[in-house]
Amino acid sequence: MKELALIEQIRRSFAASRSKAVALGIGDDCAILRPPAGSEVLVTTDFTLEGKHFRRDLHPPESVGHRCLARGLSDLAAMGATPMAAFLSLALPASPLADPKSRTWITRFFKGLRALADQHHITLAGGDTAESPSDAILADIVLLGAAPIGRSLRRSGAKPGDALYVTGSLGGAAAELSSLFTLNTFPAKISKTVNHPQTFPQPRIAIGQALLRRKLATACIDISDGLSTDLAHLCRASNVAAELEQSAIPLHPLTRKLAPDAALNLALHGGEDYELLFSAPTSTRIPHQLAGIPITRIGQFTRKQAKRPLMTLLGLEGTRATLEPHGWEHFSLS
Ligand code: ADP
Ligand code: MG
Repeated sequence: MKELALIEQIRRSFAASRSKAVALGIGDDCAILRPPAGSEVLVTTDFTLEGKHFRRDLHPPESVGHRCLARGLSDLAAMGATPMAAFLSLALPASPLADPKSRTWITRFFKGLRALADQHHITLAGGDTAESPSDAILADIVLLGAAPIGRSLRRSGAKPGDALYVTGSLGGAAAELSSLFTLNTFPAKISKTVNHPQTFPQPRIAIGQALLRRKLATACIDISDGLSTDLAHLCRASNVAAELEQSAIPLHPLTRKLAPDAALNLALHGGEDYELLFSAPTSTRIPHQLAGIPITRIGQFTRKQAKRPLMTLLGLEGTRATLEPHGWEHFSLS
């Protein structure tokens, strides 16, 4: 009964939100989706685990809901897909299910998820609800998107000589998280989302779509684990090496109060920025902005050579240093 009441609450809160691709949403044994003609379906799933991806004492419930969806949307963005629908499997500890007061957490979680879903014109089309075997809240989100057949942006298309670009700025998510750890609480009110790169990251859906539609990128990946780690993924998938220009890396304003070395460290290895990293031939003119977000050229791809590093950081005084993938697991720190 408790679960039924919760599912009814979820159904009602998404009843008004519609997605063109969803012919039948929550309420039957299956959802029915209708991808646009000429498209293929892209699928991604992401866990959001209490203690691993968020802390109930630090993250407002709206942030947990937002980030749960944002992680999946960012994967769709990285491939240039148009989001169709989300599915959410949720395991909740017994107390929030039984106690009406603890229901506020769930209500606020869905409020955060719903706000981001509305922004991207998608809806929650189904899921599963169960009692968690522990005190931890566990969520697994599945996102489906559509892209013209054969046109999705992959990690494997970068060529030696291509330039390397990044959207937005880097290091902000790690900087916000470290100040959350220092404060040991979420500061009073949620202000403009631009100030919350960790708690309310903005997946770059419109940019991914533009890169695909305008045939700008040869390869693309989203930066979830950190620039150094995700660039290494792109290099391996494309069988190329990369050179990063330190002076070109756009630092998030939240890193500016840190020492230059610390700021660079967060931008290179911080993770959770959910920006896009992509390659394009130097003959392709890449706009300075896409969907209102700055695009910065931060390096280039080169031929992969035995005994040469996969990634090189070109320093401010012409130095060359091997760049190792060091993206970190945030909550292994706490
Ligand atoms: P079944 O037992 O047939 O799987 P459920 O009772 O689990 O049915 O689910 C009933 C409906 O509610 C289904 O449409 C399902 O997709 C939806 N649903 C269940 N849990 C969630 C959830 N956490 N979020 C969104 N939809 C959900
Ligand atoms: Mg079920």
